[in-house]
Amino acid sequence: MEQALFERVYESVVRREPTYDGVYYTAVLTTHIVCRPSCRARTPKPGNVVFYESLEQAVAAGFRPCKRCRPEEGGVLRPDAVLAAEADQLMEAQFGQKVTLEMLAGWLRVSPFHLQRTYKRVTGRSPAGRLDQLRIEKACALLTDTELAVAEVGQAVSFRGPSHFTAWFTRKTGLPPTEYRAQFKGGIHHE
Ligand SMILES: [Zn+2]
Repeated sequence: MEQALFERVYESVVRREPTYDGVYYTAVLTTHIVCRPSCRARTPKPGNVVFYESLEQAVAAGFRPCKRCRPEEGGVLRPDAVLAAEADQLMEAQFGQKVTLEMLAGWLRVSPFHLQRTYKRVTGRSPAGRLDQLRIEKACALLTDTELAVAEVGQAVSFRGPSHFTAWFTRKTGLPPTEYRAQFKGGIHHE
């Protein structure tokens, strides 16, 4: 591999970007493991890296596929819409817990940069914006349809502390949770 190309592919390793996933495989001489270029494990030094054009070549040379990035599972990038839909599924399943862009990207085995850009291009908003929306919808429903305390509603949408939840909810809806509940609960005002 010529030096300029090596540097370009190695740059994607440093940045953990999937540009060369499925095109080259990163074999690490010190660990005898072969990865996708976008692998999120520790970045190997350039002197310890050999790029192969196929996984078979790397395995034949004695490298084991990485358990973390699983280069054997086809390196070709998912179409953007599929990635966005997978991100949506994850967020709908996980919004009750703390979820960061890095966590999402790790689960989907892409770089945070790639996920953010792709998701926004497909859906018109960021993953963080979508998480906020899911949490607001759930919190509003819990406030109006249940007797859960505000702190419990906050916990159900990932907030540990009630004050943090109240500040966030007020910022997003324009009403504090208690007031939102008083105004909208079942259309009935409880004395
Ligand atoms: Zn790996």
